[in-house]
Amino acid sequence: MLNLIIFGPPGAGKGTQSEKIIDRYQLVHIATGDLLRAERKAGTVLGNEANEYISRGELVPDSVVVGMVRNFMSSHAGAGGFIFDGFPRTIPQAEALDAMLLEFNTAISAVLGLEVVEDELVKRLMLRGQTSGRVDDQDEDTIRNRFREYQNKTLPLQGYYSEQGKYQSVQGIGEIDEIFTNLCACIDTVKS
Ligand code: AMP
Repeated sequence: MLNLIIFGPPGAGKGTQSEKIIDRYQLVHIATGDLLRAERKAGTVLGNEANEYISRGELVPDSVVVGMVRNFMSSHAGAGGFIFDGFPRTIPQAEALDAMLLEFNTAISAVLGLEVVEDELVKRLMLRGQTSGRVDDQDEDTIRNRFREYQNKTLPLQGYYSEQGKYQSVQGIGEIDEIFTNLCACIDTVKS
């Protein structure tokens, strides 16, 4: 199984690159932000609870997100591999993911970190906010809060996966296809 994590701050291009990676490597996409927004749209209790955090630019509690990922993976048991997008975002989530994958007799193959400077990220998110309809892309305070959460809670995952020898960093500024080519070069080194 090929299991990838696409890593990086909000606006780094994780969703865009995930779509291209899925096409080439036939992976199942797990984007926790998309799953949470779908729950909200469906008006579930989980969705309404999560919305409070999302609209403030805060992370949703680990137990909620981990449970959601577990359900999703169980319902895609025949998958040839997964690409995790926007998950894990904390060390406890990463530990839970390692344990879940072990239950499935597999593991993370590589973590691909997209490097983009903050000024460029704010520009991209404000632009995306004009068309995505996402409330958390439209307000600068919320965007800044998402970066703070990323710095404090998500960035430590670089160390977590570097210690496992799985973290690879890729320049996230440039042409979409050029970035994709560089990501594929990393993936091809770990693909069995
Ligand atoms: P995203 O679409 O990945 O930018 O996620 C949008 C929002 O959903 C985030 O700002 C968080 O509030 C929430 N969220 C998505 N994934 C996670 C996660 N793995 N852990 C906690 N909160 C998450």
